[in-house]
Amino acid sequence: MEKLSSKRRAKKASSERSAEKGGQVGLDAKTIEELVPILLHSRGNPVISGIIKNLESGEAVSDDDLAALIGVKVNTVRTELNELYANGMVTFEKRKIPNQKWYAYFWKLDMNNINYLIQQRIKKVIEILNKRLQYETSHSFFYCPKDGKRYTFEEALEYGFRCTDCGTQLQAQDNKEIVERLRSEISRLTQLLESISGQRKES
Ligand SMILES: [Zn+2]
Repeated sequence: MEKLSSKRRAKKASSERSAEKGGQVGLDAKTIEELVPILLHSRGNPVISGIIKNLESGEAVSDDDLAALIGVKVNTVRTELNELYANGMVTFEKRKIPNQKWYAYFWKLDMNNINYLIQQRIKKVIEILNKRLQYETSHSFFYCPKDGKRYTFEEALEYGFRCTDCGTQLQAQDNKEIVERLRSEISRLTQLLESISGQRKES
């Protein structure tokens, strides 16, 4: 476990939100289980999911116990715990084992920092979607009915309204559905962000 100390800790959340609330405002188990693996780029990793599920109660659990609970080797659990730790999602505590020379490591989810990291990610996605929405609402589009290749009006004009791949005549495209999908996703994420950060919209 010596490797841990050399791993740089991910940026710690500031304590602007009270520790008393533990940053758990609106962060339910389902959201954590869904979003932490996405942040780690480890969706579908059963060990990561197992660790999160077993630490959700807030109780510190040793790596040996986690391995037993998940049903994998302790080294496998340690590898993923290191990954979670390097990303600032878990904390650990060394505890001396009575009558033994060694220490055991007890792990907890770092709820404050997970909350912070999830909020940062959602904000980033909202920003990207807003840029895309801006692009969609400020252009007219054309498409190739044969292969679906998409062009802005300016591009279509430049290419004489012919597909650059197959030469087919381009057709005007109604992007209303795309715009609606973007708006509804932005609104869904904004609501999620509000519920996680504990802010309520003044109505
Ligand atoms: Zn084409």
